[in-house]
Amino acid sequence: MEVDLAIGWMRATADAVAAASDELTRLDAAIGDGDHGVNLTRGFTAVAAALEAGSFTSAGEVFVKAGSTLISKVGGASGPLYGSALRSLGKALPPGPTVTPADLAAGLHAGLEAVRKLGGAEPGDKTIVDAWKPAADAFEAAVAAGGDLTAAAGEAAVAAREGARATAGLLARKGRASYLGERSVGHQDPGATSAALLFRALSEQTG
Ligand code: ADP
Ligand code: MG
Ligand code: MG
Repeated sequence: MEVDLAIGWMRATADAVAAASDELTRLDAAIGDGDHGVNLTRGFTAVAAALEAGSFTSAGEVFVKAGSTLISKVGGASGPLYGSALRSLGKALPPGPTVTPADLAAGLHAGLEAVRKLGGAEPGDKTIVDAWKPAADAFEAAVAAGGDLTAAAGEAAVAAREGARATAGLLARKGRASYLGERSVGHQDPGATSAALLFRALSEQTG
């Protein structure tokens, strides 16, 4: 992955989040406070602007900048969580212009670990983790099987979407939705849904 692709992925995520803002907010209104679409649109719009203004010599620097921007611009839970994920992804990547699919696989797992460390969520808790973990696992498996970036990103996007859909059946154990207890069941998690958008954007950029 080159610098241009890293920036393209973040821009595509900004576009996807903005296009899905109403849907994300609707999901968050059902089990949270109805601001997820607004939070992420504000955050990723700022990311796109920061990347436009900056100059970068590695994909890692791009993700660190994106993560820092989200942390500073988004007040909700999702800002620090996605921000930490992207910062950790960026820091895990090697310096220099070229990042291999195997590097990216390791970076996606580093991002996942950052989310889990900050938020304490386990798989099945109805959070971002429920889309990001299957995506990182699928990406890694595709690379291990000899797949290139396009193939791995495609597998990750499918896994993230399926993971997000499956959150509808889960009871929330973290974040605002956990206050609802059993009443959180039957609604897809907004953060898992936005994580699926992030991985779809990666797949579209590499395809
Ligand atoms: P807030 O809940 O502060 O309004 P958002 O609405 O932007 O923030 O984000 C809500 C989403 O954040 C949830 O749908 C969930 O996916 C995710 N989330 C909340 N808490 C956690 C956590 N501890 N770990 C992982 N993801 C979490
Ligand atoms: Mg919210
Ligand atoms: Mg909020």
